[in-house]
Amino acid sequence: MRLEKIRALMRNENLDAVIVTDPKNRRYFSGFSGSAGMLAITVESQQVFTDFRYFEQVKIEAPDYDLVELESALVIYESLVRAIKENGVGKGGRIGFEGGYVIFNVYKKLAEFFPDNELVPISLDGCRMVKDEEELRLIKKAAAIADEAFNQVLVHIKPGVREIDVALELEYFMRKLGAEKPAFDTIVASGHRGALPHGMASSKVLEEGDLVTIDFGAVYQGYHSDMTRTVALGKPDAKQREIYSIVLEAQLTGLGALTAGKTGKEVDAAAREVIEKRGYGKYFGHGLGHSVGLAIHELPSLSPKSEIKLEPGVVVSVEPGIYIPDWGGVRIEDLVLVLPDGKEILTTSAKQLIEINI
Ligand code: ZN
Ligand code: ZN
Repeated sequence: MRLEKIRALMRNENLDAVIVTDPKNRRYFSGFSGSAGMLAITVESQQVFTDFRYFEQVKIEAPDYDLVELESALVIYESLVRAIKENGVGKGGRIGFEGGYVIFNVYKKLAEFFPDNELVPISLDGCRMVKDEEELRLIKKAAAIADEAFNQVLVHIKPGVREIDVALELEYFMRKLGAEKPAFDTIVASGHRGALPHGMASSKVLEEGDLVTIDFGAVYQGYHSDMTRTVALGKPDAKQREIYSIVLEAQLTGLGALTAGKTGKEVDAAAREVIEKRGYGKYFGHGLGHSVGLAIHELPSLSPKSEIKLEPGVVVSVEPGIYIPDWGGVRIEDLVLVLPDGKEILTTSAKQLIEINI
């Protein structure tokens, strides 16, 4: 059970209570997905604090938690103090808070309202690394929506349309297919703009001869997918073919290297080596991938610095790219589930260079 992960962390860190403020962690540990509220967990109690707007929603979404009804969001700290004390945390008790999430003003409030307690910065993000069956179902659905939307958007990619038109069509298809929203601002980077790894769709018009990098994803019941394909508008030239084939080889090599027990660093190195050997190492300036879940960027990542070992149940992107200023770029990205004895690639759109006839 997810809550047990917090209790285990409390035992390890010798904590008497944990206050959860990050909405993604609140949702993960309780089920409550509203926009305002906190959780307080002690050894024997688990409570959601929220205001009138969400009383009914909490009862449906977080049945394992006790609801503390706030008169207004402004009195949350008074309520937290009262509830945590009532649940047996006295003077000197150690209270964990999310150090990477709590902003300074909230920390000041906590310090003011818990003067007799020790406030201990903790991170709960590691608890979300390994996905359970329900989470995998939702991520797979989000990935399938993105694949299908990509398939449908191909006919809209043609000379004369703007990058934002392509993004809009994609987002429309994803919504029609059941997505709540795009996983992030859709990237459509064509021609020389392909050199921008995070080139948000602009009003640039697509032209014959452009490579078009499209990086997008869907959110389905809170869970994100992420994929990238690069397509050619018309016949690609020799250089475009060369760069594409190097990125594809690096991507396939990365996928091949991805197994449970490897570190993110090892998988990154396998793909990076392909690009470096062909002389384009300096044009691949980002990590090979990142995990997804309730957030679009989660731990563990695949990068030259990631020492975290990949466990079965991790869902991670594999997305090498080459970005050459004033020329353009190519990126290919899949979403992959790490299995005990292999992997499952969740995004299934074709990866040979798609040439759009014009
Ligand atoms: Zn992406
Ligand atoms: Zn990504």
